[in-house]
Amino acid sequence: MPVPLLDVNAQNLPLEAELKEVFERVLHTGRFILGDEVDAFEAECAALVGAKHAISMSSGTDALLAAFMALNLGPGDEVLCPAFTFFATAGCIARTGATPVFCDVCPVCFNIDLDSAAERLTSKTKAIVPVHLFGQSAAMDEVMAFAKQHGLAVIEDAAQAIGSTYKGVGCGTIGDYGCYSFFPSKNLGGFGDGGLITTNDDARAEQLKQLRNHGMHPKYYHSFVGANFRMDALQCALLRVKLRHYAEYTDGRRRNAAFYTEKLSALSGVSTARESDCCCPEGQTARLEREGIRLLLPVSYQHNGHIWNQYTLRVIGDGRRDALKQHLIDKGIGCEVYYPVPLHRQECFQSLPAQAIQACPVSERLATEVLSIPIYPELLESQRQEVVEAIAGFLS
Ligand SMILES: *Cc1c(COP(=O)(O)O)cnc(C)c1O
Repeated sequence: MPVPLLDVNAQNLPLEAELKEVFERVLHTGRFILGDEVDAFEAECAALVGAKHAISMSSGTDALLAAFMALNLGPGDEVLCPAFTFFATAGCIARTGATPVFCDVCPVCFNIDLDSAAERLTSKTKAIVPVHLFGQSAAMDEVMAFAKQHGLAVIEDAAQAIGSTYKGVGCGTIGDYGCYSFFPSKNLGGFGDGGLITTNDDARAEQLKQLRNHGMHPKYYHSFVGANFRMDALQCALLRVKLRHYAEYTDGRRRNAAFYTEKLSALSGVSTARESDCCCPEGQTARLEREGIRLLLPVSYQHNGHIWNQYTLRVIGDGRRDALKQHLIDKGIGCEVYYPVPLHRQECFQSLPAQAIQACPVSERLATEVLSIPIYPELLESQRQEVVEAIAGFLS
C-alpha cells in the first residue's frame, strides 16, 4: 500500500457533507469579504492559541509581510532570522527593503541559535524572527531576553506551529506578533491560501485590521499605505469546520510521532536527539561518531507541546540521506527534504552584504541530512508500520 507524505483528502472528505452545508450557507449570505464568518473564525483562533487578538490574512506570507510593514521596517534596517526555514520568513523581510541577516540553528530542535544571532547583531538590527520549525517552539525565554536587552521587536513565525506551546503558552503569543498559515500542508490546512496574525496589543490589532484593508479607515480615507491582505469569508467558514476537530488532528500526529520514535529507536544505529545537546553541535557530533549513529530521531523538549508538522530524521553520513530518500520512494513511501538549500545560500540573497550571509555550518549540514516522513493524523497503523519496516530495511 503506498504511503503518501500527506493525504489531504483523508482529512477533508469525511467532512464533505458539513463543508457543503457551510458553502451553501455562505453562498446564500452573499457576503464574501470580511463579516461574521471572518469575525467568528478569528475569535475561535484567538481562543485556540490564547491571544487577545487574531486577525485573518490572505496567507502566512502576507501575515509576516504585514507584521514587518506594521513595524515600519525598511531600507537600512536589519532583521535576524534563521537560515534553516521556509523561504517566506526571509522573503518578507527583503520585500520591505530591510536586510534579512541569517543566523545558524540548533542541530537538535532546528530552531534559531541565539549565540549565532548575538554574533550578527549590529546597531541596525531592529527585529528578530524566531521560527517554530516543524511544529516545535523556539527557545522563547531566551529570544525575549535577547530582544529586550537589545531593543528588538519579536515576530514569531508560527506558520508550522498553530496550537503548539512553549512552557504551556501558545506559540505566536509571546512576541509582538505571531504569524500563522493555513496552507493545505500546515496542521490546520485550508482549501487554498490563508493566514493569521495574533497580538495582545489593542492598538496593534487595529493597525493590522486597517493594514490588511489598504490602510483604509474610515471608508476611502487612507492614513497609511496598506494592501489587500484579507482572507476570504468562505475560507474562514470552511476552516471553522476543521477547527472543531483540531485537537484530534494534533493527537493523531503525536501518536504517530511516538510510534516512530518507539519503533525506530529500537533499531541498531538509531538514536533520539538529546535535549541536553541543544545548540551544541560539537557535543552532538562527537556523540554521533562515538556511538556510530546513522539515524537521529527528532525530540520534543519537555517544556514544549510539539505539534509535529513534520517528523524530520537526520540521516548521518555522506550521501546517505539521498540514498534513504530514494529507497523510500522506490517502496512507494512519500518523503521530502525540508529544506535542501539554507537561505543564506539562495541565489536571490547573494547580493546581500557579507555580514548577512555568513557561513551557518549547522544549517548547511542539516540541509544534507534531513528527511521528513509521513506524519499526517490519518496515517493508518499499517502504513506507519510500512514506513518503519522500509527504514529498517535500509539500515540493515
Ligand atoms: C508555510 C510557511 C510560511 C508561509 O505561509 P503561506 O501561507 O504558505 O504563505 C512561512 N513560514 C514558514 C516557516 C512556513 O512553513
